[in-house]
Amino acid sequence: MWGHMHAGRMPEGYPQFFARAEGGHVWDADGTRYVDLMCAWGPILLGHRDPAVERAAARQAALGDAMNGPAPVMVELAERLVERIAHADWAIFAKNGSDATTACVTIARAATGRRAILVAEGSYHGALPWCTPVREGVTAEDRAHQHRFRYNDLASLEAAADAAGGDLAGVILTAFRHDNVVDQEMPDPTFLRGVRALCDRRGAALILDDVRAGFRLHPGGSWEGFGVRPDLAAFSKALGNGHAIAAITGSDPLREAAARVFVTGSFWCAAVPMAAALATLEELGRRDVPGHLAALGERLRAGLAERARGFNVGLRQSGPPAMPLFLFEGDEDVRLGRAFCAAALKAGAYLHPRHNMFLCAAHTEADIEAVLRAAEPGFQAVARLQAEGG
Ligand code: PMP
Repeated sequence: MWGHMHAGRMPEGYPQFFARAEGGHVWDADGTRYVDLMCAWGPILLGHRDPAVERAAARQAALGDAMNGPAPVMVELAERLVERIAHADWAIFAKNGSDATTACVTIARAATGRRAILVAEGSYHGALPWCTPVREGVTAEDRAHQHRFRYNDLASLEAAADAAGGDLAGVILTAFRHDNVVDQEMPDPTFLRGVRALCDRRGAALILDDVRAGFRLHPGGSWEGFGVRPDLAAFSKALGNGHAIAAITGSDPLREAAARVFVTGSFWCAAVPMAAALATLEELGRRDVPGHLAALGERLRAGLAERARGFNVGLRQSGPPAMPLFLFEGDEDVRLGRAFCAAALKAGAYLHPRHNMFLCAAHTEADIEAVLRAAEPGFQAVARLQAEGG
């Protein structure tokens, strides 16, 4: 089993295999149902097997999927993204988030003729050798021409840009700070404006990695509310509501470089995920999905905070409510978090102890109440461990 999908890395009792999924729920291979707050680690935005998306996918599947080139639906999808995403003048498509972030870096280098990329410490941009968090099998050369800075710290960004000097090709930044096992942070608007100004001053491309957050906070991309536009953006996860697709969007000055680089894959033209993505965007236009996720997220956050107080347990909740993360005070090794999640799982809620979670449009207030009920044995387990420890 690969990467973070290894149930051995999850708390006790977590299932490795899932038999089916519907709306806001998943069933493991033994038939146990859970309220699903991981949503396939982000791809499920409207709900598992959303009827409108699955109808569109089935219609396209009846015509063809992998063919010798894309189906016309690709043009419609690109047009829709360019309409929706303020910075976008063009779009190209791939499969995974790593494809999209890597293509953005390649395009930035091709456009500038320079090599250096500034990457925030602890940010995840995918699992290819240039960005995987685990260095096994990775060479120093794979990681060459990268300089680190701290998210939301303009002085450290300036220092990294100085280190890159005249070789600076681009800056890559996640939509907000959503690193593993640290409190999430929204981008400081002054920092974002500073990043934009630095890129403009130094002729570098600003790359938004919206793979994880894209379409959950705003239908036009996660920085829409900040008034800062990237030059390139990487999307995947939620775009196809579970169908494998990624998108790279770019502004006109990067178009020519995007046409020059050679990026492709055997399945990148597949038409079914494109039809699914188009239907997902249509649904996003019809209903206020980010509003629904935020409202449910607030409810979950308030309910967890109230219960944590009741059990006298220190709980930190951070980031946008639509993508909740909770960490326990003094729990650096996540022992408390794991015990909490193991107990909540037994009570029917699939949560994560150190990675942000994901709400979807199919979740209801009743699902949130079910999660809060499942959290009670979790808080009991944490209170018990704390009493034993003290
Ligand atoms: N960027 C971010 C911010 C991500 O969260 C992820 C996936 N967790 C990726 C890139 C890589 O996406 P994928 O796993 O689809 O390659």
